Amino acid sequence: MMRAPRLNAPSSSESILDHVGQTPLVPLRRVFAGEVSSRVEIWAKLEAFNPSGSVKARAALNIILEAEQTGQLQPGGTLLDASSGNTGIAYAMIAAARGYRLKLCLPANANLERKQILKAYGVELIITSPLEGSDGAIHKAKALAAENPDWFYCDQYSNDANWQAHFKHTGPEIWTKLGSRITHFVAGLGTSGTFMGVSRFLKSQNPKIRCCSVGPDSPFHGLEGLKHMETALVPGIYDPTIADEQLEAPTEESFELVQKLAATEGILVGPSCAAALWGVRHVARQLEQGVIVTVFPDSGERYLSDSHIWEPQ
Ligand code: PMP
Repeated sequence: MMRAPRLNAPSSSESILDHVGQTPLVPLRRVFAGEVSSRVEIWAKLEAFNPSGSVKARAALNIILEAEQTGQLQPGGTLLDASSGNTGIAYAMIAAARGYRLKLCLPANANLERKQILKAYGVELIITSPLEGSDGAIHKAKALAAENPDWFYCDQYSNDANWQAHFKHTGPEIWTKLGSRITHFVAGLGTSGTFMGVSRFLKSQNPKIRCCSVGPDSPFHGLEGLKHMETALVPGIYDPTIADEQLEAPTEESFELVQKLAATEGILVGPSCAAALWGVRHVARQLEQGVIVTVFPDSGERYLSDSHIWEPQ
């Protein structure tokens, strides 16, 4: 008689949160074939594979775990932050899995899919003016934090646990796979957590690695998740001196790369990933040889309502 396989019982702490991180790091061989030297390798870390669908699962989880460890967050407590979407979705997942309430300040112009996902999680949304964008949501969150000192204000823009998530995990994951072969790192700037944490880690391993940040080229842009640092509220964790080069991606050219990447590599990404890819191409065109790594924060499936991105050029 066949014995039923022994199944493991879950440990008391096991949950979806155990699967944050360890995302795929894949080579992009076709997207710029013929445009850049064949001796330039391009690698992209696919952060849409995180539970909650974006890179922000890493920062949100580290912020909350640290608050638990330092006693700033008590069981059953209330989390508060501002987000234009992906961090909010990550908080919603973590709050549900660990038994917290969540209050989220979200600009009214956050995209449709994000609002729908947050609604599905049952998040308490505090909608702020579309005219003020993510800065309006930050102002509101600060005001609510002052009025409600018993809530834990995550403050992803100023909380060191944000960039430290990438210093502790994203950077080492990249280094484990590619090590001393890496010559360049390119990533977009939102809170700047990804760029700061990964760049600091890679430079700690090899100070010669060139780290290039990518922001939008104007205050009015369509690169959701990225900040135009010159005109926006500058995040407390942002240190511009970490970047060896600061690149500015144009929205339309970045959008074109969404389709090109999907058609050549089979990877459907969001606009901020395409802006990072625009930055990668800019860097790659100047090289004879090199290994460039970038981070793709989320998936194109989160932007299907923004149809202009997908229209054939
Ligand atoms: N792209 C998207 C889609 C994002 O949601 C974010 C986070 N705001 C970023 C890029 C930037 O990541 P970070 O906050 O780590 O700079």
